[in-house]
Amino acid sequence: CGIVGYLGHRPALDVVLQGLRRLEYRGYDSAGVALLNGSGSLAVERSAGALSNLEQRLSTGDRERFGGTGGMGHTRWATHGAPTDRNAHPHRDASGRVAVVHNGIIENFAALRAELESDGVELGSDTDSEIVAHLVARAYSEGRTAGDLPATLGEVASRLSGAFTLVVTHADEPDLIVAARRSSPLVVGVGEEETFVASDVAAFIEHTRDAVELGQDQVVAIGRGHYRVTDFAGTEVAVKPFTVDWDL
Ligand code: GLU
Repeated sequence: CGIVGYLGHRPALDVVLQGLRRLEYRGYDSAGVALLNGSGSLAVERSAGALSNLEQRLSTGDRERFGGTGGMGHTRWATHGAPTDRNAHPHRDASGRVAVVHNGIIENFAALRAELESDGVELGSDTDSEIVAHLVARAYSEGRTAGDLPATLGEVASRLSGAFTLVVTHADEPDLIVAARRSSPLVVGVGEEETFVASDVAAFIEHTRDAVELGQDQVVAIGRGHYRVTDFAGTEVAVKPFTVDWDL
C-alpha cells in the first residue's frame, strides 16, 4: 500500500521508516524493510501488524546489519495471501540476493508461479508479488538482460499484467535501486547526492521538493542524486519534473 526507497548518504533505515510513517494514513496490515549494507548482502526484516512491531524487531536485532545508506520499505494491504509475517514484503529469491516490494495486483501471477515451480523454484509466500523476485533473479543472471538490473526489471515488468509499483534491490548492485510502474503511482524525489522513490511524495517531502512522476510502463534506475527513466524495452524517455508545493 505504501512504498519508499532511498539511496543517499544518510542512514537509509531511518529515512525509510520515517517515509513509511508518512504513508501510514493510507492504512496497512504489515510492514517490512530491505537494506543494502556495505557487506555486500541484503538485510531484510518484516512483520505483520503495525510499524511499531517492525521497529521492535529491528531494535532487538543486529542493528549493524541494517546500517548502510540504501534501502527500501513497504506497508502492505493484503490482496493475495493472509496478512502474516511470511507474506509481508520485501520478498526475496532463493539466494536472498534480490528483494522486491510491490503495491497493486499481478493478475497473471498463477501462470508465472506455475512456470517457476516447474523450473524447481520453491515459493515462500502466498502472495502474487513474490514471483517478481524469482523472475528478476533469473533474468539478471542469464540471457539478454544479464548483469543489467534496469533492463532486467523492464523485461520482467513487460511479462506482468495488472497494476503494479515495484521496487527492486540486488545485493550485487549496492549503488542502484530500480523501480517500475503500471497503473499504480511512482514518484522520484531528487535531492543533493540522494534520491528517493515512493508511491507518494509524502514519503520524501521533508527531504526534497524536486520530484519526477513516472509515466505508464516506465522504469527508473536511481543512484545517489541521479536517475534515469526508460520504457520497459530500455529506451530512454522524457521525464516530467515538478516541484511539490504543499505545506507540511
Ligand atoms: N498484492 C500484493 C500483496 O497482497 C501487494 C498488496 C499491496 O498493494 O500492499 O501482497
